[in-house]
Amino acid sequence: MSKKWQEECGVFGILDTRKTNPDISKLTYYGIFSLQHRGQASAGIVVNHDGQFLCHKAHGLVADVFDDLHLGTLTGHAAIGHVRTPAPNESGYDVVQPMQIKSHSGQIAISINGSILNANELRDSLKEIGAIFQTTADFEVLLSLIARNRVSTDTLEGAIQKMMGEIKGAYALLVMSEDRIIGVRDPLGLRPLVLGKKDDMYLLASENCAFDAIGAETIRDVLPGEIITITEEGYSSIYTVPECDAHKNGKLCIFEFVYLARPDSFIDGTSVYESRVQTGRALARECPCDADLVVAAPDSGIAAAIGYAQESGITYGQALLKNRYVGRTFIEGTQAAREMAVRLKFSVLKTAVKGKKIVIVDDSVVRGTTTKHIISFLREEGAKEVHLRVASPPVKYPCYYGVSASEAEMLPARSMSVEEIRDMLGADSLGYVSLEGLKASTEGALCGHCSACFDGIFPAGVPAEAGEASPHKI
Ligand code: SF4
Ligand code: MG
Repeated sequence: MSKKWQEECGVFGILDTRKTNPDISKLTYYGIFSLQHRGQASAGIVVNHDGQFLCHKAHGLVADVFDDLHLGTLTGHAAIGHVRTPAPNESGYDVVQPMQIKSHSGQIAISINGSILNANELRDSLKEIGAIFQTTADFEVLLSLIARNRVSTDTLEGAIQKMMGEIKGAYALLVMSEDRIIGVRDPLGLRPLVLGKKDDMYLLASENCAFDAIGAETIRDVLPGEIITITEEGYSSIYTVPECDAHKNGKLCIFEFVYLARPDSFIDGTSVYESRVQTGRALARECPCDADLVVAAPDSGIAAAIGYAQESGITYGQALLKNRYVGRTFIEGTQAAREMAVRLKFSVLKTAVKGKKIVIVDDSVVRGTTTKHIISFLREEGAKEVHLRVASPPVKYPCYYGVSASEAEMLPARSMSVEEIRDMLGADSLGYVSLEGLKASTEGALCGHCSACFDGIFPAGVPAEAGEASPHKI
């Protein structure tokens, strides 16, 4: 419930092998609508209409960016779509995806979820050999590399494979050319990507909740390091990491399970909801609490709160309501404004909390600003005690892999002890689940995990600019 780390993007792609479905852009719309939780700042769709690419994209939520008219004009047999939350240093129309170019071998459009660590160095060296850039975004560097590599390779897949050897980072990438859509997951599988099917159409998406929304079935996760091509003939793969090792050596972002992914999604063989419940159970074992009622920080703490209640035997109930229609507070930047914003967003069910010892379960605490207000509202409404339990360890390091990072200094857990944070938040007690407890909740997952924001071990390294900032530069 505090200001969360935001996934920067969600991607969706679809190709109709028979070219008969008239609703490709609508299906893409529903797909990115279902991925809205992964990015709320902009949305876009590019469709392939007999080799001609048509695009509509803008700032705003999916439902605001597209109307009947746009979707009616965007006809074609294949499409890629995107939702995005820009990184803190990015702004403007430039960063709205998908992006398309006309290359020597035809049109190419690209959508990415992730972050390229050496984008600046690559951009500089491409400029030295004459490349021109219109934006500051990572994905333009990728397009430029693909277009350049395509000149010396026989296939688009070859150009992409060569690019994968040149870039460092975390990415789930969709590339659409005139006759295919290619999905790519980085060699460590840091960002998720899944393959699906509906009738004669094949689909790729960041999460399978996008398939469920359109009645498509999930075929499987794209493997770390896999380049998967969808054409009229079906799909085929190139494995840049040996197929047998790909999942085993993978490092899927564990924050997908903590907060980022939708609870109804499955990633690399694990149910997001079930892993959250299991984390709540581990939290109850590790940080028990003498309380009358378990409540969830809405909505992202619900599954963990249910797990906490199941394991502890304490009743689970609702004490906080979330208003889904939060708009502007009109006064900005002041303490009063921030408090007003939280009051507009959350309200307390007075009868549920009065005189009770409450344990509130949240999925994560990054800055804690909202949490602090909520704890004080619960007290104002008569809660006798308010204990906070957090279903992830303290967030101590920024993420370099495509999740908007708070500045390192803004992460209280980096410099404060648990007791100091408890005091700052005004809770009667505070407990975090251990990293082991969190990891155990994804038992059965096909993939290992990145947990760098908790332990500082960055499996794909850190950008050169981060320098000393990371204690575990690899
Ligand atoms: Fe995910 Fe944290 Fe790793 Fe970033 S640092 S990829 S948020 S686990
Ligand atoms: Mg929450």
